[in-house]
Amino acid sequence: MNDELMTIDDLEVVGRRVLVRADFNVPLDRSGPEAPRVADDTRIRAALETIEELRARGARLVLVSHLGRPKGPDPAFSMRPVADRLAELTGAPVTLAPAVVGPEVVALTHRLCPGEMLMLENVRFAPGETKNDPDLVAALAELADAYVNDAFGTAHRAHASTEGVAHALPSAAGRLMERELRALREVVEQPERPLVAILGGAKVSDKIGVVERFLDLADVLCIGGAMAFPFLAAQGHSVGASLCPEGDLEPARRALTKAAHSRCRLELPQDLRLADPQDAGAQSRLLDGVEVPDGWSGLDIGPRTAERYAAAIGAAGMVFWNGPMGRFELEPFAAGTRAIAEAIASTLAMSVVGGGETVEAVRSFGLDGCVTHLSTGGGATLELLEGRELPGVQTLMRSPVGAR
Ligand code: ADP
Ligand code: MG
Repeated sequence: MNDELMTIDDLEVVGRRVLVRADFNVPLDRSGPEAPRVADDTRIRAALETIEELRARGARLVLVSHLGRPKGPDPAFSMRPVADRLAELTGAPVTLAPAVVGPEVVALTHRLCPGEMLMLENVRFAPGETKNDPDLVAALAELADAYVNDAFGTAHRAHASTEGVAHALPSAAGRLMERELRALREVVEQPERPLVAILGGAKVSDKIGVVERFLDLADVLCIGGAMAFPFLAAQGHSVGASLCPEGDLEPARRALTKAAHSRCRLELPQDLRLADPQDAGAQSRLLDGVEVPDGWSGLDIGPRTAERYAAAIGAAGMVFWNGPMGRFELEPFAAGTRAIAEAIASTLAMSVVGGGETVEAVRSFGLDGCVTHLSTGGGATLELLEGRELPGVQTLMRSPVGAR
């Protein structure tokens, strides 16, 4: 996959206007009376490698991203706070364009000197973005001579700025995109064995494709979090008031059947930490087993399960983890997720960790530096692992001249 990927090594950038699609969809702090500020700049910092390399090579940068879900132009979703933060991080001015596209913006791009940066307004202000509208694609292409896609997190969407424009300009993947794809490729293509996958989080239906893929790929698959309950219910256990949507039972049943014929060892919780729902999660109780009494809900895996999963990680040649093992946001139910994070932090095996809340959990434990690769993509990571083609990546593949 990656050998076929065009990277910025393949792109002429000196003196050229380069449109860089980054993922600057950052959380904003709107609490104060003053203008909103960037609450977490992780995604901006993740794009710095590509930005600084292109600036150093003398490219004239035109940056584009979406931010939130505005319905049309809306000052509350302006890229202003992002432009300001990027200027602070790079120590260089970042001009904010008055719009996404248009003659005024084209003029601004022509005024850029090598190494200088212009940030377009929120690309979702343009109605054609999510529809991949050809007029918007053409207008974006007018702003640059080359295109770099560094927004792995939106690579599963065929939008004008993530897919369409790549057909109109010489295109390549940015460094973050490259790194994400390389790490995930290692997991799915030639993993060090045994490959141990830990899957958890909230919804089986969102992740069933990934569960099935890992039943083919992995040597051990450990399931925790709310995701475990449809599996336990499908095996005939009572789940009490645990999160277990009716619609998730059938996919879980299917996966169990598949697991029975797979060489992958499927592990489910053997003990649980329960919360009395009357008590808003404050009262916790350990259940040595998986028959959840009426009215109680399982909010974490128990210590015996955590130990089993940690032991599997300890013996792994490679680890992939997506989805917390419990409601780690509440301290009484964080132990299972913490045990997985600590086991991953102490293994010498390559580890790839993805998912919005999972990455947040690893950070909250202060263990983010101990993971080989923290994936920035949620949906994109899952779709890639399911074996689907990502439209935003397809367009960056090397192909014979004229084939695009
Ligand atoms: P990610 O964003 O890492 O992919 P998900 O979005 O699938 O993960 O799920 C994360 C959420 O699942 C967390 O907010 C966590 O509190 C919740 N969760 C995990 N286990 C349980 C559980 N047993 N009951 C209720 N919620 C849970
Ligand atoms: Mg999530």
